[in-house]
Amino acid sequence: MKRIGLFGGTFNPPHVGHLRLARLAADAAALDVVIIMPARVPPHKEAPGLAGGADRFALCQSTFSDDPRFIVSDLELQREGKSYTVETMRMLRDNYPDDKLFLIIGSDMLLSFDCWYQYEEILSLCTLLVLSREPAISPQMMRDYAVSTLGLTEGEGFHILETKPLSLSSTMVRKAIADGEDASAMLMPQTYAYIKEKGLYL
Ligand code: ATP
Repeated sequence: MKRIGLFGGTFNPPHVGHLRLARLAADAAALDVVIIMPARVPPHKEAPGLAGGADRFALCQSTFSDDPRFIVSDLELQREGKSYTVETMRMLRDNYPDDKLFLIIGSDMLLSFDCWYQYEEILSLCTLLVLSREPAISPQMMRDYAVSTLGLTEGEGFHILETKPLSLSSTMVRKAIADGEDASAMLMPQTYAYIKEKGLYL
């Protein structure tokens, strides 16, 4: 039985916070594979200045290239319409019927999880792996939400990855680039080089 993590996002662009989350999740849950899944149209949030799918796919490939456990999938980019996680999880369940599935998310996504399309079915198909994004959201707050709002059991339904949050977002990266500031501390070098070459987020 393999242990497979799905890590979805807008990745506009992917930054070192994303890479850190994927690594921490893969290590903590002993994942064999992490499937990085850039969304075509994110259902849960506004996406101002969304770069094209082909560019975000290439940026994910460059960011997540250094770990053999990571693979970047264009499944949601190829699928028409909004990128609902439940559809992707169903497909993974069909493709990997005997394997254990995980969904990797940051704390901001956890705290609105009950608004996700068909979230109960998502929870029936996988275990959540959650990392805090900001100090204001403590591991205990995440636990309380997962147990009381989502009705999950720790271990079976979710795991909290307890480390110091890294305050970083794609919005911060886009703003730094648009303002002409140096974004090299936020991005993998090859990702930054691609963004510069293509003139993205200016
Ligand atoms: P934006 O600023 O454009 O809204 P973002 O930085 O939140 O983007 P997404 O692509 O929307 O990035 O995030 C994908 C996933 O990665 C989400 O589950 C999100 O919670 C998580 N994530 C993003 N940045 C971090 C971070 N610094 N620490 C932990 N999790 C993160």
